[in-house]
Amino acid sequence: MTSPKNKKPVSTWLDYDFFKEEQKAIKSQTVILRTAGCYWRKCTMCGYWQESGDVTQADILAQLEHSLRNSPDIEFILKIFTSGSFLDEREISSGTRKEIVKMVEKRKEIKKLIIETRPEFISEKKLNDLKVVEHLEIAIGLETANDFIRSNYINKSFSFDDYRTAVKIVNDYGATVKTYLLLKPPFVSEKKAIEDVIKSADFVSDYSSTISLNLCNVQKYTYLENLWKRRYYRPPWLWSAVDAIKEIKKRDVVVMSDPVGAGHKRGPHNCGSCDFVVKEAIKEFNITQDLGVLERLEAMDCECKEVWHAVIKFDDFLFGSNRG
Ligand code: SF4
Ligand SMILES: [Zn+2]
Repeated sequence: MTSPKNKKPVSTWLDYDFFKEEQKAIKSQTVILRTAGCYWRKCTMCGYWQESGDVTQADILAQLEHSLRNSPDIEFILKIFTSGSFLDEREISSGTRKEIVKMVEKRKEIKKLIIETRPEFISEKKLNDLKVVEHLEIAIGLETANDFIRSNYINKSFSFDDYRTAVKIVNDYGATVKTYLLLKPPFVSEKKAIEDVIKSADFVSDYSSTISLNLCNVQKYTYLENLWKRRYYRPPWLWSAVDAIKEIKKRDVVVMSDPVGAGHKRGPHNCGSCDFVVKEAIKEFNITQDLGVLERLEAMDCECKEVWHAVIKFDDFLFGSNRG
């Protein structure tokens, strides 16, 4: 018999998101459904498989039903994620997907639906199933436009060409793409990591309406955790995130960055004293898209900024392994 835990989502929460189509922040609800989990499970920084379970398709519908009980009663963006790919039939069957669509369709407050998937599962037929809301966005964890980094350091197993093929299907269909870029995969120095996400933004901004910058954090029981424990990895500085966001925003895209675990040693962090202020500024930028919010941080004279500058300057030599 299925466990009662499987009837509830991994988590669900309310927040605000920038709604590009109307250039304003509106409410959002994120739902993380527990499914059989990502079939790939081999990315070096990913521990999401720990959220998977022996879940039935009926459980998945119960999880969403449970989450939507707390939906906002005004217009909102609904983000339905799994710890894998929403469009992988092994996680969510086409029958379940259609039932989910019916649940979404009933709630007229939902202005936009965002789902996340690996590119190999994207097809016009599956997108057609989701055609119930005015705005549909497909999020893809590309991580970097650099095939070498994605394949050797992240172990993601799909290429930039695979991403481009999938994105073309989405764009031709009339839906938008959110591309996730990963700031500081393992074996990439702090400076190279900033350069990599900026360069990647150049490659993806024509196809993406949103770029979401994921600040790498150290999840339990991952290859990355092993490196981190042996002092071969330090999560990115929040100053690096601010730098990268400001640069990426010069392109015509919405730039988001959810600073998960910010200020903690396993998450993106500075010195400890300024982390909260920088984290809050990034969160405010997410919903306003106002670069002024981040530019104001330039006036902040926390001592660690000098350390960060030195890290960037000597980073090739340090090889991104300092633990500060
Ligand atoms: S990062 Fe995505 S593709 Fe890679 S193992 Fe995790 S869920 Fe799967
Ligand atoms: Zn500081």
